[in-house]
Amino acid sequence: MEHIQVMGVPGLPLIHAGDNLAAMICERIPVHSGDIVVIASTVYSKSKGYTKSLSSISPSSRAQRLGEMNGEDPRFVQAVLDASADIIMEHPFILSELPFGYIGVRAGVDQSNIENGMVIFLPQDPMEAAREIRNTIKETTQKDVGVIITDTCGRSFRRGQTGNAIGWSGFPAIRDFRGDTDLFGHVLKITEEAVVDEIAGFANFVMGESNNGVPAVIFRNCPSLTGHDQLYFTTEEDITRKALKKGWDQ
Ligand code: GDP
Ligand code: MN
Ligand code: MN
Repeated sequence: MEHIQVMGVPGLPLIHAGDNLAAMICERIPVHSGDIVVIASTVYSKSKGYTKSLSSISPSSRAQRLGEMNGEDPRFVQAVLDASADIIMEHPFILSELPFGYIGVRAGVDQSNIENGMVIFLPQDPMEAAREIRNTIKETTQKDVGVIITDTCGRSFRRGQTGNAIGWSGFPAIRDFRGDTDLFGHVLKITEEAVVDEIAGFANFVMGESNNGVPAVIFRNCPSLTGHDQLYFTTEEDITRKALKKGWDQ
């Protein structure tokens, strides 16, 4: 296998609504076909104007109640409620299910890396966002790349946040090992590897969280993958979701 190369994209400015992210990235690092371009959801959302000022939000009574309970600005809580398709947990923090199937703390609404008093929403359809960036790169450079949109997320059971994929295009989310044999000839029965999250995790490591200013990372020479895209458990399969929902919603 060739060495995999991982390159943070240098010199990107602060991103604003209307910016052409695909072009800005490709100007700084010319992409090759087969590269995987990883982009932080924060900058994708900023480029599309998925932001809001807190002063424009009037909190509902539920937002006021949750704001008081969790020690948060009720206008921020309202933004979280607006972005959520379902609330899995209300306290000690809001755990939301988003319309695209992802479950995350505070619906992934961020107040960092944007001006004071503003919030950033996750893209409404991150799969479409990844497809759009991939198509733009294909049209302008004739290169066929994969694209991942990431967000930094907390985890159950372990401290520390890592990068997760919330949208992807150009390759499957999961490498399916079921049916393969291990070194001793045992047939693997349940092993599925969430490659999009592994790549997102390393990209997040290169991006950093604070003032690095590196919202895009390019991976070169990754092996090609076969598998499937069913990254999210169905509501029926998801035992953690069921247990949490039972915990307070009865
Ligand atoms: P998230 O993980 O998608 O919520 O995004 P973060 O706020 O953690 O930012 C990821 C990386 O992108 C960090 O290195 C930030 O410093 C950087 N970043 C965020 N916004 C911008 C921007 O507008 N321009 C540039 N150049 N970097 C940004
Ligand atoms: Mn985020
Ligand atoms: Mn982050």
